[in-house]
Amino acid sequence: MDYAVRVSHYVDPATFELQRDVILLISGSHVAEVIVGGEVSGGLKGLAEHTLDFDNAVCLPGFVNSHAHLDLSHLHGQIPNGLTFPEWAPAVIAGRAMPQAMIDAGIDDACRMVVASGTTSVLDISVNGDSATPLSKHGVNGLLALEVLGWSGDAAEKAMQHADEIVRAKFALDRERLGDDAGEADAPAKPDGIDYAFSPHAPYSTSMELYQHAFGRAFGEGRVCTTHVAESLEEEQFIRDGSGPLCELLGKLGIDLSSFKGFGVTPLALLLGDWLMPWLGAENHRLVLVHCNYAREGDFELLAQSKPSVCWCPRSHAYFKHEPWPLAQMREAGVNLLIGTDSLASNDGLDMLGEIRQAANHADANVTELFRAATINGRKALGIENEAADFAVWGLPQGAGNDRDGLLKAMLENETPLYASFSRGNLIARAI
Ligand SMILES: [Zn+2]
Repeated sequence: MDYAVRVSHYVDPATFELQRDVILLISGSHVAEVIVGGEVSGGLKGLAEHTLDFDNAVCLPGFVNSHAHLDLSHLHGQIPNGLTFPEWAPAVIAGRAMPQAMIDAGIDDACRMVVASGTTSVLDISVNGDSATPLSKHGVNGLLALEVLGWSGDAAEKAMQHADEIVRAKFALDRERLGDDAGEADAPAKPDGIDYAFSPHAPYSTSMELYQHAFGRAFGEGRVCTTHVAESLEEEQFIRDGSGPLCELLGKLGIDLSSFKGFGVTPLALLLGDWLMPWLGAENHRLVLVHCNYAREGDFELLAQSKPSVCWCPRSHAYFKHEPWPLAQMREAGVNLLIGTDSLASNDGLDMLGEIRQAANHADANVTELFRAATINGRKALGIENEAADFAVWGLPQGAGNDRDGLLKAMLENETPLYASFSRGNLIARAI
C-alpha cells in the first residue's frame, strides 16, 4: 500500500453517509480498502509506506468545480462590479488579448487556489487548451471543455478544426478517428490526469449545426458536453425575438443578424426541445448545462424529461445580481445539481466552500444537498469512480457533533482548515 490515512470522521463517496474512525488504504490512484472502526493492532505503521493520522478531522470526497474558466484568471480584480452581462462580456473579450505570459501566470495562480481549497477536479472551459499542463503539474484532475462558437458554416468548421488542433497539440492522438489527419509527428503524451470534452459556447453565439456537431462528437466518444444556457435576461430576449443588447455585442463580433428575428422560444426550449432533442435519452448527466438562471415553466418539463447535469455558479450569479436561482424547481425536475465557480472575472475566489456558503443563503437551500452537488454529483458528471482516491481532509470544525448534516453545517459556520488533499492517490496539499 502507498498510503494509510486515518480520520475520525469520514463521508463515504458512494453513500454520502458519515462513518467514524476510518482508515483508508490507498494503492496507486485508488482507495483499495476502507477499514471502519479504526482499531488496527500495531497502529498504522505496518499498513502502508506512508501514514497520515488525523484525530479530529473529517474526510470528504474532493470538491469538483463543475464550471471554471481558468484562462480568465489574469482578470481577477480587473473588472468593475455592477456591470450587466452585455457590459461585462466585451471587457472579458478584450482581456483575452493580453500577453500569453500573463494568461499563463494567471492559470498557475488559479491552480494554487484550487489545490489550497480542497478541490481535486475541475471542468474547465478552455479556448486554447492552456490549462492542461498547469492542472497536471499541480496534480488536479482536469477536464478541458474545448470551447467552440460561431454562427456561419464556415465559422463552425474553423471552430472544430481549432478544437482538433488543441487535441493534437495537448493530447494523445486518436489515430483511429483522425486517420491521415493525425499528421506525422509523434503523439504527445497526454498530461497525467487531464482529458478533454467539448463546449459549444451558448445558444446566442453558436449555431444549431455547431451544437449538433460538438454534441455528437462528445457523446460519440463518451465525453462530457457542456454549454452556457439561459444565463441572462438579455439572452432570453435575443433568443425569443432577436432583439436587445446582445444584438450590438454580436454585431461587433462580426455575426450578421440582418435577417434574424429570433426563435420564438426560451433558450432551454431551443436547446433541449429542438436542437439536441433527437439525441437525448432519459438521463444525460454528461450534458452539463451551466447557469440556467432563467429557466421558465415549460423548461422544467424538458429538464425533467432529459435529466442533464445543471451547474449553479452561486457567487458569479450574485455578481450579476440575477433573480434568485430556481433551486426548488431544479430539485423537483430531478436534474443532477452541480456547483461551479465560473471565472475570476466575475468571482473573487475559486474555493468551493465559499460557493456553498453563498448558495446556503438561498431561501430553499439544503446544506447537505449543496455538499453533494459540490462533490459526488460532480464525480457522476465527470465519470469519476467511487473508488478514486480523490478526497480532502478538513479540520473538524467547532460544534461538529456526530451527525453528518450538523457537521456539514458547522463547516460553513466555522473556520475549517484544509489538512490534506489527495488526487488520484497523490498527496497534492498538506497543511499539517
Ligand atoms: Zn462560464
